[in-house]
Amino acid sequence: MAAHNVLFVASEVAPLIKTGGLADVAGSLPAALKAQKQDIRVVMPAYRAALANALPLSIVSLNIAGVPEGTRLLEGRLPGTSVKLYLVDIPDLFDRDGGPYVDAAGHDWADNPERFAAFSRTACAIALDQAGLDWRADIVHCNDWQSGLVPALLSRHADRPATVFTIHNLAYQGHFGSYMLHQLGLPQDLWHMGGLEFHGGLSFMKGGIAYSDALSTVSPTYAQEIQTAAYGYGFEGLLGHRRERLRGILNGVDYTQWSPDKDPHLSAPYSAKDLSGKAANKAALQQHFGLAQEADTPLIGLVGRLAEQKGIDLLLANIERIKSLGAQLVVLGSGDKYSQTALSQAAATAPGQIGVHIGFNEGLAHRIEAGVDMFLMPSRFEPCGLNQIYSLKYGTVPIVRYTGGLADTVVDANEANLAAKTATGFHFGDATAAELTHAIERAVGMYRDHNDLWQQLIRTGMKQDFSWRNSAKQYLELYQAALQWRDQG
Ligand code: ADP
Repeated sequence: MAAHNVLFVASEVAPLIKTGGLADVAGSLPAALKAQKQDIRVVMPAYRAALANALPLSIVSLNIAGVPEGTRLLEGRLPGTSVKLYLVDIPDLFDRDGGPYVDAAGHDWADNPERFAAFSRTACAIALDQAGLDWRADIVHCNDWQSGLVPALLSRHADRPATVFTIHNLAYQGHFGSYMLHQLGLPQDLWHMGGLEFHGGLSFMKGGIAYSDALSTVSPTYAQEIQTAAYGYGFEGLLGHRRERLRGILNGVDYTQWSPDKDPHLSAPYSAKDLSGKAANKAALQQHFGLAQEADTPLIGLVGRLAEQKGIDLLLANIERIKSLGAQLVVLGSGDKYSQTALSQAAATAPGQIGVHIGFNEGLAHRIEAGVDMFLMPSRFEPCGLNQIYSLKYGTVPIVRYTGGLADTVVDANEANLAAKTATGFHFGDATAAELTHAIERAVGMYRDHNDLWQQLIRTGMKQDFSWRNSAKQYLELYQAALQWRDQG
């Protein structure tokens, strides 16, 4: 594809700031697109926590059309790459302690509409060359509700870039009261059933879905699922209506950060050729969590946000079964208070067998991927999911619910797939505790009784390649399509 100017708009970018998979994507896809000769630049808010990680920075613009006075644009580089990074510096909105979307107590920031409206307006100004950068976007690639106003606002400009909107998680929508339209100074002509209005309120997510030239989500299966009532959160009709414009492009992963042979977080590196380091990582992990130092005991892990989506309740309902199977369990996560307490209690009742760390810890996440034998993802829905892909590379066998990106990346260890040597993990169907129990039992049974098959699973998984190259090419095709669709009107 021809070289294009692409503005990539994201509310979190790893390693600067991260709450989930969007940050991993925003931190790695742009470099893969740059390698495909695109002039791609990333814009994100200048959160206090991100600023320190983004140095060195220079001020490149103080004069941005349509944004609060005092807004500054800072320029740096996406760490480890030559990709230009812009930070939207509005101290009143972004210079504070706490997370990108929630305060220290876990409550949404009350001024989130103002924060992400101002962010979106700045992105529009950059895209339209109204920010004094002498650069204009051909394509603006937005991500999730925080940038959903961008396609809506750009739609009002005759000579505008093409817009692409990627849904990383439809469950978070940026839905606010209708009065916000005026409070945010948004144009009245965007307020109608085919526009920003959603069930009487103002929806940022709908701005992205309704107004972008092209839509994507992060796995082929999730692209189908969100067109159904069970997964669509009320957007299934609109998404179905726009399905010709919707693609499912599987997330890639950054193997420079996630490969067991060169992962600085691990106590011992390893590869498929020599798995002895994996045993050393397992021993180190057991020690870290105070678990019995038993090389042959199956060790199950989970890392993730403790949210309903992730099926933590299904795990909690299986704690007794995991104990009676004589397996060990380690969990790293933070999120809803109930899950945090219940998991901590489970660990307290089974010291030596269950270890729980509440919090966000990048290094420990890597050590768990390396040290456990099996990785649980009992998600109710999973747009793509990254941890199961990391697990494959780390010779850790994923146990996943058959949904979204989990279905697209893990091949079940049924008889046919084992015979074909394509199996890499274990699926279960319904989001019930009993189905998860069955999957755990199958995995533990194979681990204990069929070491040859277990080794086959590990080795098949480690061979899988989910690097960005392939997915980046699909985004380029989508960009090309978006330009045509824009021109068709
Ligand atoms: P989601 O975006 O829904 O949270 P993904 O699987 O797509 O789920 O991405 C989650 C990313 O966040 C992974 O890189 C995972 O390792 C990381 N992660 C989640 N919770 C934690 C945690 N408590 N500590 C460290 N990393 C975490």
